[in-house]
Amino acid sequence: MEPQRPKPLDHPVFMAVMQFVKVEHYDRDRGHKDPRFRFEWLPDTPPDIERSALEIEVACAKCGRPIRPFRRRKDTAPGRGHLYLAVSCPLDVRIGCSRSKVASRAYDEIYTALGYKRGKHE
Ligand SMILES: [Zn+2]
Repeated sequence: MEPQRPKPLDHPVFMAVMQFVKVEHYDRDRGHKDPRFRFEWLPDTPPDIERSALEIEVACAKCGRPIRPFRRRKDTAPGRGHLYLAVSCPLDVRIGCSRSKVASRAYDEIYTALGYKRGKHE
């Protein structure tokens, strides 16, 4: 049994890393109840910050399995690029985790901590 990982907001490095991440809110289809956020490294982010961010491990919001919350989008070249934030297991590991209510609440908690409110900031 692996030791339990912290929640993202309890992770000592997580919020520090968020200072280097630009968060964009977008809601392409109006009225969608689950607006999305896009994450991108700020241009002056030191490479070691990126590296340590990608190595952060937290607990999956649903099942507690260790996961890496910062993931690089597969469709971008190595180096700079877009990130995404995940609070649960990747789909190819456990499908149920990312679609759970717990995961959805965990995203809300993080966005709230970052100063965003779901659906309130166009
Ligand atoms: Zn999981």
